[in-house]
Parts: sequence; C-alpha cells; structure tokens
Amino acid sequence: MLVDTYGRVATDLRVSLTDRCNLRCTYCMPEEGLQWLGKPELLTDEEIVRLVGIAVTRLGVTEVRFTGGEPLLRRGLVDLVRRCAALAPRPRLSLTTNGIGLARTAGALAEAGLDRVNVSLDTLRPEVFKTLTRRDRHQDVLDGLAAAHAAGLTPVKVNTVLMPGLNEDEAPELLAWALAEGYELRFIEQMPLDAQHGWTREGMITAGDVLASLRTRFRLSPEGDRERGSAPAERWLVDGGPGRVGVIGSVTRPFCAACDRTRLTADGQVRTCLFATEESDLRSALRSGADDEEIARRWRLAMWGKKAGSGLDDPAFLQPTRPMSAIGG
Ligand code: SAM
Ligand code: SF4
Repeated sequence: MLVDTYGRVATDLRVSLTDRCNLRCTYCMPEEGLQWLGKPELLTDEEIVRLVGIAVTRLGVTEVRFTGGEPLLRRGLVDLVRRCAALAPRPRLSLTTNGIGLARTAGALAEAGLDRVNVSLDTLRPEVFKTLTRRDRHQDVLDGLAAAHAAGLTPVKVNTVLMPGLNEDEAPELLAWALAEGYELRFIEQMPLDAQHGWTREGMITAGDVLASLRTRFRLSPEGDRERGSAPAERWLVDGGPGRVGVIGSVTRPFCAACDRTRLTADGQVRTCLFATEESDLRSALRSGADDEEIARRWRLAMWGKKAGSGLDDPAFLQPTRPMSAIGG
C-alpha cells in the first residue's frame, strides 16, 4: 500500500495526460508564453498503462482519475481508458475535463469503461466565459455536459472556481441550473497554482463567501462530517435534499489530514501533493529497465515522504514551480 508517516493511505491516483490545453483560464494559465513538455518527455500510452497497472495491482490504488492540462487532447484516450478498465482488480475510472470535445467522445469513453466525469464550468454567461477562459467555447462545454449525462457518465460533477469581479455573483444561479440539469455542483477555492503566480489570499473568494452567497437563495444543511470521509468537498443538502452542493475549501478549510491522493505527472513524476516541492522520477526508472517491484518500491518511498499538509498557512510557503496545468488538477 501507499502509506505515509502520518498513517494516511493513498488509494486515489490522479494521472495527468498532458500539460497542454485549448483554454486559457485566468486562474490557471497566462494567455501565452507557457512552455509545453516535449514529446520525448511525455509518458507513452504503454508507460501509463504499466504505471497504472503497478498502482492497482501492487499499491492498493482503487480510483484512477485522468486529468491535465486538458486530457481530451490526448490522442488515444479512449484506448487508454479501455486498457485501464481491463486491469484486475478494475479501478474506478473518471476524467476531469473542460468538456470541449466531450460531445463527440462521451459515448466512446463510456463504452471503453469510463465511469464518471467532472466537467469544469465557471459561468452560465457566454461573455464571462470568454473573459475567464480567453476562448469563445461556452456552448461546447454545455454540449459536452449534456452528452456525458446522456452517455451515463454519472454522477456528472461540475467544478466551479469563482473569481472576483467576474463570476463571483453567480453561485446561486449556477446551483439552480445544476440542480435542474441533474449535475452535482462543487465550488473550488482558487489556489496558488497558476503559472503566472497571480494568486493572493485577499483576492480569492472563500468557501465561506460561497456558502453565504448560496444561502441568499437556498437552505443548506450539512450532510455530516462522516460523509466527507477523505473527499475534499464538504457537501450540503439543498432545501432538504436530495439535491446537493459541494464546497472545496482547499485554502481556508484544508482536508490534508484525510488526504488519500497520489499523483503522476504527464512526464512520469510522482507527486505526493498538489503543493509538493519534490517529485520522484518514475519515468527514468521505467526507461532504464526497472522491474515492476522496483517501480512500486520507489513509489512507496515517495509517498512515505508526504508532508502533513499543504504548507499554505506557513509564512515560508513557496508556490510549487510546476503550475496546476502541468501537475494535473
Ligand atoms: N482542463 C481540465 C479542466 O479544466 O477540468 C483538467 C485540468 S484543470 C487543471 C482541473 C481543475 O483544476 C479544474 O476544475 C480547474 O477549474 C481547476 N483549477 C485550475 N487552476 C486552479 C486554481 N489556481 N485554483 C483552483 N482550481 C484550479
Ligand atoms: Fe485548461 Fe483546465 Fe487550466 Fe482551464 S483549468 S486552462 S481548462 S487546464
């Protein structure tokens, strides 16, 4: 198993498939100038399947989430899903995506064995979408969401980041929409992981702000601490349920003590945390002929060094050199 010195066990693997993206969300990437990983640095499909296989068969991983950058940009994604779904024991498979292109691929992904999707959508207003993502693709995301729902990639979860002066007033409207469409909405606090290092604590919308805004229109009751488990989202029943909403307070309400994640970047580095400043190079091990047990040993060793928390509240906190898009959100 992937255990750390605080007794946490990592069973949830996030795999980044690419650092590239077809949007430029302001809280994630600059408009231009970001350097992409070169093809030789990226893990091949073969290498990804082998590492996921090691995680599942030797290290106790039960959940695999593909992410990026934008994972739908990875050619061969459907086949990757199919090969991971054929592993024994079969992990649960999900995808975090901006939804662009999902309308075309949702059916094939579901057929290949994908269980669920999280689609990121921050606004219901096309003009705000254009400002926030610097691309005019709002309708593509809505179409992707509908296709995912129709393909049975459920529950379809929607990830939303609120930004001051842009979409900060949209929380109630987004929740009403998500409830009507049958999507599970989760608000995520903006974290200091943007490539341009523009985040400030004062400039972020907090989980508390989101809840206050939602309460102007809805009655929220906690689902209970036990329900949160290792999940980062605090979940609330809306108007008595069954509709729900999640709030992920990564900055103001951290969940590090219950974290069950391990991460693999698109270039084959294990990260113990989004905010880790160290990585362990599994790609070199793979390419120098290490056997599965040696790779598993390195992965266990990396996780043993996992820190207690993100360090965000430490005055000496340093933003990791890799941005969110290159770590895998
Ligand atoms: N491109 C895909 C997408 O947008 O869903 C997958 C990768 S993206 C990095 C994963 C998630 O991270 C998205 O929901 C996005 O909104 C979120 N995200 C990106 N930058 C963030 C930041 N600085 N703080 C909080 N969430 C962020
Ligand atoms: Fe792309 Fe996702 Fe980052 Fe937006 S949040 S720029 S969609 S990787």
